[in-house]
Amino acid sequence: MASKNPFEKTVKDFMRRVRRRNPGEKEFHQAVQEVAETVIPFEAEHGKYVNQHLLERIAEPERVIMFRVPWFDDRGEYRINRGFRIQMNSALGPYKGGLRFHPSVYLGVLKFLAFEQVFKNSLTTLPLGGGKGGSDFDPKGKSESEIMRFCQSFMTELFRHINAYGDVPAGDIGVGGREIGYLFGQYKRIANRFTGVLTGKGMMYGGSLIRPEATGYGCVYFTEEMLATRGSGIKGKTVVISGSGNVAQYAAEKVNHLGGKVVALSDSEGFIYDKQGIDDEKLNYIMFLKNEKRGRIREYAEKYKAEFHAGKNPWGVKCHVALPCATENELDGKDALILKKNGCKAVAEGANMPCTPEAHAAFHKAKILFAPGKASNAGGVAVSGLEMAQNSQRLSWSRDEVDQRLHEIMKRIHRVCKQYGYENGQINYVKGSNIGGFVKVADAMLAQGLV
Ligand code: NDP
Repeated sequence: MASKNPFEKTVKDFMRRVRRRNPGEKEFHQAVQEVAETVIPFEAEHGKYVNQHLLERIAEPERVIMFRVPWFDDRGEYRINRGFRIQMNSALGPYKGGLRFHPSVYLGVLKFLAFEQVFKNSLTTLPLGGGKGGSDFDPKGKSESEIMRFCQSFMTELFRHINAYGDVPAGDIGVGGREIGYLFGQYKRIANRFTGVLTGKGMMYGGSLIRPEATGYGCVYFTEEMLATRGSGIKGKTVVISGSGNVAQYAAEKVNHLGGKVVALSDSEGFIYDKQGIDDEKLNYIMFLKNEKRGRIREYAEKYKAEFHAGKNPWGVKCHVALPCATENELDGKDALILKKNGCKAVAEGANMPCTPEAHAAFHKAKILFAPGKASNAGGVAVSGLEMAQNSQRLSWSRDEVDQRLHEIMKRIHRVCKQYGYENGQINYVKGSNIGGFVKVADAMLAQGLV
């Protein structure tokens, strides 16, 4: 019997080769598979891409750097962690992508993130290649001086592989303004150069206004665009957000500013449900709790008499809009069906790959608006690109100017998704963002020859 999808076999064979070359890296396989399903048919239908093996080349990192990170803890004991930098693709510009410090970090997680980053950075329309890095170091429970010693040791090796024109890392899970400061300080000390080698820097030493807010704000701007296609908006909507870190905090802030109501946030211990809504004052407490006190989300429930659900994710809470902003594979097929049953109309990924393939399929079937992270969380790297531009000019743009540019970039990404993903009267954002991201990288690679 003829297969319903004429490219099914080609995709399967392609994925078999990817798995064989990258054994055990299941997050990487998942990310490549999602792109292959839409990009392989597109390549086949466009003559200039045929037999160029472009997706295969994009799925092979240009360079992988792996190194030892030795440091002393406060008791004077030796500690050893592993550091990584994946320099995935430089067709469009310097490698660009965050550093993640989390015990779950290994090659497969960073390769998936670096692969996604290539498409995301292309969608921003800025001249940025893709990369990612990090370490299996766990910042939780470490003292300030341990964090500083670790960052210094990490940069002592990384510094020889990065520079403002070649590879410009930023933050990610476990790497916020504090860590970027220590990493930048050590880079400057060793290299004896004050350059824009990292983004997410503090305002007094070359950072950009709106960079901390950018991923969360951008995700909500994108959600507004999606809702507008159905004649609606954030105003008056009940919103559930997972995570309570950088992305979640500023997504919540923008929802509040646009007249929505955030009723849930979470961390790795569970979620809080506050049916009155987490207004700006309560959100300020979350920011203090998470960024300064480094406490747990359950403390919010104690302070504001809200519900705390230990060990659970927030997807069972009734909402119109869900924004997964914590980590990969945190929303599965069953969660998607619960969201649908509760009347959820739109899901936009603030995190990278938080929704499983089963969840994608459920959203698609239910006609729930669904934005993959490479489109909806691109605001962070976009403003990192704007930080690089300001560093090169030795200038600092106003808050309004950066915010307007961010807003315009998110609208443009939405238009690209529509251009490549419009089918059967609606926008398939997965297809639109994969193909929209692919085209620019592929054309630049063709122009630059087989390198
Ligand atoms: P943070 O470290 O600031 O916050 C991460 C949040 O997610 C915390 O609330 C954390 O809880 C929670 N979390 C982490 N791991 C898990 C887990 N395994 N299970 C449940 N909760 C978890 O990171 P960011 O906000 O910067 O990043 C969040 C996501 O957004 C990531 O996927 C990142 O790759 C993505 N992203 C970030 C960008 C940025 O600009 N920062 C840009 C684009 C994407 P706890 O405090 O308990 O650890």
